[in-house]
Amino acid sequence: MNYDIIVIGSGPGGYVTAIRAAQLGFKTAIIEKESLGGICLNWGCIPTKALLKSAQVFHYINHAEDYGLNKVEGSFEFPNVIQRSRGVANKMSKGIEFLMKKNKIDVILGTAKVQKGKKVSVTDKDGKATEYTGTHIIIATGARSRELPNLPQDGKKVIGYRQALSLPEQPKSMIVVGSGAIGVEFADFYNTMGTKVTVVEFMPNIVPVEDEEISKHLEKSLKKTGIEIMTNASVESVDTSGEGVKATVKTAKGNITLEADIVLSAVGIAANIENIGLEEVGIQTDKGRVLVNEWYETSVPGYYAIGDIIPTQALAHVASAEGITCVEKIKGMHVEKIDYGNIPGCTYCHPEVASVGLTEKQAKEKGYEIKVGKFPLSASGKATANGNTDGFIKVIFDAKYGEWLGCHMIGEGVTDMVAEAVVARKLETTGHEIIKSIHPHPTVSEAIMEAAAAAYGEVIHI
Ligand SMILES: Cc1cc2nc3c(=O)[nH]c(=O)nc-3n(C[C@H](O)[C@H](O)[C@H](O)COP(=O)(O)OP(=O)(O)OC[C@H]3O[C@@H](n4cnc5c(N)ncnc54)[C@H](O)[C@@H]3O)c2cc1C
Repeated sequence: MNYDIIVIGSGPGGYVTAIRAAQLGFKTAIIEKESLGGICLNWGCIPTKALLKSAQVFHYINHAEDYGLNKVEGSFEFPNVIQRSRGVANKMSKGIEFLMKKNKIDVILGTAKVQKGKKVSVTDKDGKATEYTGTHIIIATGARSRELPNLPQDGKKVIGYRQALSLPEQPKSMIVVGSGAIGVEFADFYNTMGTKVTVVEFMPNIVPVEDEEISKHLEKSLKKTGIEIMTNASVESVDTSGEGVKATVKTAKGNITLEADIVLSAVGIAANIENIGLEEVGIQTDKGRVLVNEWYETSVPGYYAIGDIIPTQALAHVASAEGITCVEKIKGMHVEKIDYGNIPGCTYCHPEVASVGLTEKQAKEKGYEIKVGKFPLSASGKATANGNTDGFIKVIFDAKYGEWLGCHMIGEGVTDMVAEAVVARKLETTGHEIIKSIHPHPTVSEAIMEAAAAAYGEVIHI
């Protein structure tokens, strides 16, 4: 019942923290009320990518002729596509169970609540409460789909991401509210499978955190695939009384009514800060997130928080990195603070989007004199061989010292390429060093080297 470290929540924040803690010799327990792996493995990163893979394979089958193959008419049973995605998620969750055993971490199933005196009370599914004590308590309870007051989710006609990942039937039409990574990925999946999709975005651009040129290019690409996109538009109300849903959408030209089988609300997340004992212990929150310092200590000594519950980027790799930093600091190791300016962000629609660092607008706002280089994938041999030439690479360097300020990519496979920019930026690599780093041919990654060369007037293939 006494542990060095108790972790609450087993998402990519919690389970990674627990493994690192066990590696460092701490007696560790992890508490989970639902499924090991949290949102990421069960209802987020992994099952969405499984659905998108099915959609991509379906797309390739239907475009077999583009590759010199005989024409094929792809077909599918929607429940089987969902079942594959659920199977992938379940397999990953089982993998976490194995990792917990391997690292001798006690898994406690139940709902946790922190208490004063570094105690945690856990209520199991039969309502039985047990108390545990930890020298250090790390809260990683994550987040859930955010609900807007004018877009209440009933789980049937107005749904969140969990239902979108497990619908029993494919809707004929869908309105996706919000065009961040989650909204755009679902829009791409459902559209590719044949659902008529309309995306409604409040901001002037879709994927609003991305560089404007990337957002504009993605909008064009998605429109070409048949997705209808409305920017500068907001859903004011929904009427679910009829067979489908009628959504009143405010646009610059006035209100219009859209009709669809289903509305997917993808307007962000709300942190799980309720009923976990924060007020009783005196842990401070602000704007719905737990406040922490750079070592993830909350306002009360001995209690820490990481992942989606704190006000940093809500991404799986951020949650994991925060957990590792947190326990290494507890151990007394010499730890580097996380550089939140060097976190890659990826959207796995088709074409994919990946970026790290400053956008062109941000770089200019910060007063940098910049050199910008771009390279279209239509000039890449590998992208042409792949039949995926839609997209480009954009790199931004500081004109004075050559610092790589930002890398923005759109195209097939770019989510697997962005790590190059992350490492290079971490090592303070300059533009010229990128140009002189020989990239393998033929790969799409050559486009990064060429984009860097374009910034310095040395590009070869355009
Ligand atoms: C549809 C979707 C797609 C996504 N795709 C990506 C992606 O491609 N890449 C990416 O980086 N991120 C992605 N994310 C975001 C990513 O899933 C989150 O950033 C990540 O899961 C956060 O990890 P976490 O450990 O903080 O919390 P979570 O993963 O939310 O885990 C928290 C865990 O705590 C448990 N818990 C909560 N309260 C209690 C309690 N009182 N007692 C015990 N257990 C409790 C929950 O059951 C849950 O298992 C996606 C999210 C969604 C919704």
